[in-house]
Amino acid sequence: MTPTAAARRWLLASGNPGKAREFEAGLRTHGISLLLASEAGLPPFPPEDGVSYEENALLKAGHAALHGGIIALADDSGLEVDALAGAPGVHSARFGGVLGDGERIAYLLQRIRHVPDSERGARFVAVLVLATPDGDVHSVRGECRGRILHGPRGDGGHGYDPVFLADDLGMTFAEAEPSAKQRVSHRGRALAALLAWLQGPGEGFGEAWR
Ligand code: IMP
Repeated sequence: MTPTAAARRWLLASGNPGKAREFEAGLRTHGISLLLASEAGLPPFPPEDGVSYEENALLKAGHAALHGGIIALADDSGLEVDALAGAPGVHSARFGGVLGDGERIAYLLQRIRHVPDSERGARFVAVLVLATPDGDVHSVRGECRGRILHGPRGDGGHGYDPVFLADDLGMTFAEAEPSAKQRVSHRGRALAALLAWLQGPGEGFGEAWR
């Protein structure tokens, strides 16, 4: 693709290093580099108190684009567990309180310890919002189905990856090569949809920032 000059460097409205690694890998091949929010000297982000992924992603992308002065990309994502009626969902980052990844996984496993294999279905959801400093926005959604294991498997990835067995891979996201995760994951699918949109209907997006 041939993005506009300004579109070749996006501000990533996230402080999550796991997400940043995945976006950097997914965008590099399209000639787009990322400026991290932590390097952009932005004022503090408003609290993520939206009731939907869309609302939170919009909040983050809008804030970053407005204060950073360039196109900003935000991701709001979460894990929805069938046996918990879709929880933790938008609250995934804070599920169980202020915990590390390992403790949060332990908390999740404890909450569903009596749930049999046949009912341990789950999905990851990611909503990406691309925003310009003058308020143009575009959002896309990606999903990935799988199930929650009884214990962690694999050393890669981040967040809930070690206990999420992806249907499309037959292994956990923490066992998968980063490129395999990217191919089937909620974030990878949403990013592919965003890039496809930029090559088609959204071709002129960000043109004013050339
Ligand atoms: P937020 O989008 O910053 O609210 O955080 C989303 C949370 O969902 C992360 O902190 C993780 O706990 C979880 N999450 C989202 N995407 C992934 C993923 O690809 N792997 C593992 N956990 C994820």
